[in-house]
Formats: sequence, structure tokens, C-alpha cells
Amino acid sequence: MGVSLDTSVLQARRDGPAPETAPAQTAESKAMSLKFEIQPTANPTPETERAARLVDPGFGRIFTDHMAIVRYNQAKGWHGARVESRANFPLDPALAVLHYAQEIFEGLKAYTRDDGGVNLFRPDANAKRFHNSADRMAMAPIPAPVFIEAVEQLVRIDRAWIPGGEGSLYLRPFMIASEVFLGVKPSSEYIFAVIASPVGSYFKGGPAPVSIWVSENYTRAAVGGTGAVKCGGNYAASLRAQAEGIDHGCDQVVFLDAVERRYIEELGGMNVFFVFDDGSLLTPPLGTILPGITRDSIIALAKDSGTRVREEAYTIDQFRADAASGRLKEAFACGTAAVISPIGKVCSASGDFLISGGVAGPVAMGMRKKLVDIQYGRTNDPHDWIRKVI
Ligand SMILES: *Cc1c(COP(=O)(O)O)cnc(C)c1O
Repeated sequence: MGVSLDTSVLQARRDGPAPETAPAQTAESKAMSLKFEIQPTANPTPETERAARLVDPGFGRIFTDHMAIVRYNQAKGWHGARVESRANFPLDPALAVLHYAQEIFEGLKAYTRDDGGVNLFRPDANAKRFHNSADRMAMAPIPAPVFIEAVEQLVRIDRAWIPGGEGSLYLRPFMIASEVFLGVKPSSEYIFAVIASPVGSYFKGGPAPVSIWVSENYTRAAVGGTGAVKCGGNYAASLRAQAEGIDHGCDQVVFLDAVERRYIEELGGMNVFFVFDDGSLLTPPLGTILPGITRDSIIALAKDSGTRVREEAYTIDQFRADAASGRLKEAFACGTAAVISPIGKVCSASGDFLISGGVAGPVAMGMRKKLVDIQYGRTNDPHDWIRKVI
């Protein structure tokens, strides 16, 4: 691996060149003690304009005034932690991420409690997953305390952007390879940043059941690949399949395993659960799927209430047969953005079938309420998942 001490464009602009000699300390030990410099924007969005944007924010188009940013290079390790005005990154055309897609991200939300405080839901789990993603993508791991601090500082400074009611503030931590070099190797420099986007209630009047298209032409992940990490490349590779689903009138695509093309894996960005007539739940096992925090939370809550949960392979043919026989009662998708989306219809080249008559089922809706009530602090939190930021 080339040990380049070139500074990133961003760092060069803000910090000046990095010293060629740095104290011999590991990146992690230095970063543990990182202190964020907070520099509020000189041009905050006027209150009336912010209020107007929060009326119907949709998803992912409106952004808050600030961002958190931390930089890494081999000489300094993690450094330059700041919360500052949200601004463009200057992008050198040879920036490594633009060519070889060394990029990972996370997604979590901040929720306003009835008492006016603000909750995060399991940010430690996001930090841990981010660490695993960095490891798989040969990127510098950011210490969990720095990841969490960046998220919390951003939430605090932009708290006015958190919509009330069923809305929330979607937080997007991400990391890019920022070395200016076209050689194929792990980058020696990284930018970690967190941005925030207010989102409305994902579904007004309860979630509408989604239709899913079974992807037979494309797979998402293979054993030994990157299916279990949250990297942008997985999404790039899923878009063609998603477009095919939309062409067939479906909302989402469901991927099958890459070897036998029979076992259900997950949707493009959500895990799946199946509900049977004996009340039990089934969800595909970890391995090539993304280990969803919502998935993990649903398993824990179901087990708390004595529900049997199996993490087992399930084929598309069995799914179809169980839906026809009535053994399968419900199916639902889950993830941070939508929490739980009931699956109403499954479409494939060999025909369509309905799940629970195409309407939202009681197990999906009950589980959704349980989770949302914990996230907004309306009920007790038996697993200590909530982190009060404010
Ligand atoms: C993020 C993601 C999920 C859901 O994970 P949560 O932690 O529940 O939000 C599921 N599948 C994929 C491919 C994802 O990227």
C-alpha cells in the first residue's frame, strides 16, 4: 500500500498541509479524545422559511443548516472534528471514491418526545455496523464514540429542524475515500461526515401495503461479497433491478440468493419478515443480507412477547405455496426509514399473488406501533435502546 501523506483537497483548504512527521500514536487512540469544534453557521435559514420547508418535507430533499465532519489521514489519524455550516465538498476529479467507490454510510433518526426532548434509537448499533462496513471496505475505522458524538452534536445544533408529530430527523453518517490517486488500493485519506434531513411521517394515515417484484435477472449479494455492509455500491447495483420492478408496476424489488436463485434475501433497502398462522415469525438468516437494526429490534420485541422467531432460509416457491394455502398470514419489510411496510402483493415473471388479501395485517401494524412508541419515548424501553440527546 502506498503511504502517501498528501493531504486531501478539503484538508488543504481548511487546515493547510499536514505535517510530514506526526506523533507515533494509533489512529484510534488519538481519535478517542477528539473534541468537536462547533462553528454555528453565519447564515441560518430564517425561521419562517424553515417552518415552510417542514410542512411537507418528504424524504431526503430538505437539509438542515449544519454538518459534522471529521478527517483522516495516515499522519494525523482522525482529526479536525468540526460541526459547521453545511457546504459543498471541493472534489478533485481524481478523488478515489469517484473511481473505485470506497464509500459506506449509515441511516438513523432523531425523534421528538412529548416532553420536548430528543431521542436517538440505538446509535451504538449504527456505530458498530459502520465499523464493520469500514473493515470490509478496507477503510479507516472511526471509533464508535466519535461517530456517536458527531451525530449527537449535529442533532443538538439543528434541533429546530426536527419535525414534530410523526416526523423525525433522518441522519446520514457516511465516509468517502478522499485520497487524490488513481491507483487501486485502499485510500490513505478519508472524510467522515454527518448530514441531516427532516422527514415527514413516512405514511399519512398508516402505511399502505407495498407490492414487490421478484428479481430473477439480477442478484444483490453473494457469499464473500459486500451484501452485509452498508456501502453505496450495493445500491448502485440494485437500481437496475428496482427499475425493472417499477416497469412491472411494483413499488420495490425482492432479491433471491445468488447461488440457487430460490431463497428470499431482502428488498433493495429493507429486510423482510413472514408471519404464519401459528403466530410465529420467520426472517432470512444473516450472511449475505444487511443486518438491519430494525430487523434485530423486531426479533427482540417478538421474543419478549413469547413469539417464536426463526432466522431461516425460505424459498420463493414456499412463500407462494404458503400464501395460497393460508398458512402464511402476513409479510412485511422493515428498515429505519419506513419502520415497517406491509407487503400486499408479490409479482414475478410467473405470476402475481396477494398476501393477507392485499391489506396491512395486524402483526405488522402491532409491531410497528411497538417500535414507534419506543422510538418516540411513549412507552418503556426494556432493552435500553433509547439515547436521550436533549
Ligand atoms: C439499511 C438497510 C436495511 C435496513 O437496516 P436498518 O438498520 O433497519 O435501517 C436493510 N437492507 C439494506 C440493504 C440496507 O441498506
